[in-house]
This record gives sequence, C-alpha cells and structure tokens, in this order.
Amino acid sequence: MSSANVLEIFSSVQGEGKYLGYRQIFIRLADCNLHCAYCDTNFSRAEYCKVERAAGSLTFRDVKNPLTAAQVIEFVRQFSGEVPTQAVSFTGGEPLLNWEFVGEVAAAIKSSGVKTFLETNGTLSAEFEKISGVVDIVSMDIKLPSAGQNLFQQHEKFLRAARDKDLYIKLVVTGETTREEFLSAVELVARVAPTTLLILQPVTPTRKVSAISAERILELQAAALRKIKNVRVIPQTHKFINVL
Ligand code: SF4
Repeated sequence: MSSANVLEIFSSVQGEGKYLGYRQIFIRLADCNLHCAYCDTNFSRAEYCKVERAAGSLTFRDVKNPLTAAQVIEFVRQFSGEVPTQAVSFTGGEPLLNWEFVGEVAAAIKSSGVKTFLETNGTLSAEFEKISGVVDIVSMDIKLPSAGQNLFQQHEKFLRAARDKDLYIKLVVTGETTREEFLSAVELVARVAPTTLLILQPVTPTRKVSAISAERILELQAAALRKIKNVRVIPQTHKFINVL
C-alpha cells in the first residue's frame, strides 16, 4: 500500500479547461518538479492534509500526513456517496511525482465506475506510461520558455504517450508570452497530436506575471487556428465564484 503527502481533498467545480463546470473530487498532492513564474499554488509538503468534512461543505479537518492510498480511497467513497461526482481529479503540484500512489487510488476509483482525471505539467512521460491504463482524462500543460525553462522535448514525449487518451492541452498565455515561443508550441501540437483540443488560458496576473491584452489573445488564437482546428480561449473561472 503506497502513501503520499497530500495537501487537500475536497469536492468542488472544475474551474478550467474542457471539463469546466464538472463536479469533481480533487486530490491535491504536494511537490512539483517545476517553478513556473505564474504559479499560484503552494505545493510545499504539509504536516496535515486538509480534508473537507462533507462534500462541498468548505469546512475542513486535519488528517496527519502521509496519507495511505486506502485512506484516500475511503474519503473519495464518502464524498461520492454524498454528492454525485463526475470525475476525481489528481492535481498538485505535479501528481506524477507520486505515480505509484496515484495509480493505486485511480485503479480503485475507476473500478467503482467514476472517471479519473489527471492534471499534469506534461513533463513526466515515463511515470505517466506506468499508470495510463487507469487514467481516463488528461489535462496536460505546455509550458512556454517565458514561464521559466524550455520543456518542449519533455512535452513532445508526453504528448506521444497521452495522445490516445481523452487529452486536452492547456497553454497559459501572459503579457510576457512571445509570438515565437507560442508558435513553437503550436507547431509541436500540430505535428504530434493535431486533433487534440488546445486551450489558451489567459493568466490570472500575479506580482511576477502581467496580464495579456484582449487584442493579443485574439491574435494568438488566430495564429493557432491556422495550424490546429480546435483552439479555444478559456480563463480560470473558479475564482469568479470564489470556490476552491
Ligand atoms: S507545474 Fe503547476 S504547480 Fe508546478 S510550478 Fe508550474 S504552475 Fe506551479
């Protein structure tokens, strides 16, 4: 039985991407292998995991870390008994750093008939391949060099490993995004997985990263549509209604 440092387990609405508005249970794991400039997530390990008392109650209790897969499976059973759940999302941080744990929990969830959803930064293809059989939906990021480093090689490997899944790609665009790096990302998708949905997510500005203008978003979407058929602009929405 594997275990992991888990930060939060709660039931809420998916606020990003293709499955926007889905009612999901979120399992948010600690640790990340990247340091993106626009990161809005504290993924440091914690002594306690915050577990919602009842699905959607927004009140939490502390459960000592690390959590075993069996404990997490039991919380998921409890929440999906309280609120019909459209998918269970593994998020982070980068959940594939704990691929063994994710694989064990996802196998139990999938066998109960609930869909499993992986939110990943799209850099750990070898880890993904070990558990891809128990993952239904993949939300994969492509990080642009202006977010911190050039990861196109890792993204290409990941795209090849995940392209036969229910996969969509999320590309966060900021005031710092250059046309050149954006087009490199679009070329990569057009070459490796041209029918995959590409979502442009305008950044929620932080101290370190500036907003992107409306004109620029429209210009980038138009450039992407010249290479890929399915390109949508979808901002983060959960912050509008103040849910997690
Ligand atoms: S991959 Fe995600 S969690 Fe990790 S640093 Fe980047 S934005 Fe933050």
